[in-house]
Amino acid sequence: MKKNLSDINPAQLRGRVVLVRTDLNVPLEDGRVTDDQRIRASLLTLRLLSEAGARVVVLSHLGRPKGGPRPEFSLAPVAEHLSDLLARPIPFIGQGVGAEVEAAVARLEDGDLVLLENTRFLAGDTANDPDLAASWAALGDLFVNDAFGAAHRAHASTSGLADAMIARGGEAVAGLLLERELEYLEDALLEPERPFVAVLGGAKISGKIEVIAALLRKVDRLLIGGAMANTFLRAMGLDTGRSLVEEDRVDMAKDIMRDAGERLVLPLDCVVADEIERGAPTRVVARDAVQPDDRIGDIGPKTIEHFAEQVRRARTVVWNGPMGVFEIDVFAEGTMSLARTLAEACEAGALGVIGGGDSGAAAEKADVAERITHISTGGGASLELLAGVRLPGVVSLSEA
Ligand code: ADP
Ligand code: MG
Repeated sequence: MKKNLSDINPAQLRGRVVLVRTDLNVPLEDGRVTDDQRIRASLLTLRLLSEAGARVVVLSHLGRPKGGPRPEFSLAPVAEHLSDLLARPIPFIGQGVGAEVEAAVARLEDGDLVLLENTRFLAGDTANDPDLAASWAALGDLFVNDAFGAAHRAHASTSGLADAMIARGGEAVAGLLLERELEYLEDALLEPERPFVAVLGGAKISGKIEVIAALLRKVDRLLIGGAMANTFLRAMGLDTGRSLVEEDRVDMAKDIMRDAGERLVLPLDCVVADEIERGAPTRVVARDAVQPDDRIGDIGPKTIEHFAEQVRRARTVVWNGPMGVFEIDVFAEGTMSLARTLAEACEAGALGVIGGGDSGAAAEKADVAERITHISTGGGASLELLAGVRLPGVVSLSEA
């Protein structure tokens, strides 16, 4: 078991310089935060530390700046937004390391927080440079990794900093958000209550092959919708018209279907249109009646009901990837109704987990997010956990 921040007595935090790696990688427009979900998700840990009297140094990346500092990727607007949310000034240090950072840390009083500049302005972050990690570690004696969204990357500000902190006799622990993500995406799925049903969708199979394989070893049913299902329909020898299909994955889909047998559940019918666009006239067709000019944009009503029956019966449900092009209303019903059914199942006592990215946004759009047991804040990291991969940002933490 890895050590968590919640395992530490808050009385032991007063006066200590604590480095916190959070995921403040939010969308910006004209220097303003347009979606602050990730900032909000980081507040629990930051509040706990500040209220306990720790001196908090916050690190995060933002975007993928290449080749050094780029003003449009600066965390300065995030510091302002964070100050508003925490109702206290969070000074922004325009550097990631160096004398200015050290001076700012020396000025900290108990309960203060500062935010450093985007870690990815330093080439050593993504390169996991041990010297960079060591210079951060030297600032304090406790590292809290709360950046679930970046935990699947071995970077200097994630696993590197944990290693460096432990090497110099300090501790590296999981923050409250990371702890909660692991509780639902790792622990809960180790010995799931059955029936265990997974629902996968989205645009592509290719990024999710390992997830499909890992889930098929564990689940009672794997329901597949979205464009991902098209490749399977093709593997069954069906015509998918002009729908999105990954031709180079059809053989792989055949293998998966053969191995999975009846545990794999595919759409029975589809919503099709000439074009996937707003207001397009649509038809519902059986899966073996898709015409050469059709594009599949959503699962059909028979499939919706068939999937809903499986979800209602389940005790554990994991969902990743929308059932259709839910961004467009005429293709949204499959995804919206799955979100509602999952919310009902959760209220009836099932454990329901949504694996981040667009499916989390779909649950928001369906207005059921609060009713789902857990919606992950990390797309890539949640997929890696579902694929059974141990995250570098977690592996490197101190043992409890
Ligand atoms: P997530 O972020 O939840 O992991 P993905 O990124 O894999 O999901 O896929 C989401 C995208 O898949 C959405 O933008 C959605 O429009 C698209 N999609 C779903 N079904 C279809 C379809 N039938 N045809 C084209 N695109 C689809
Ligand atoms: Mg996505």
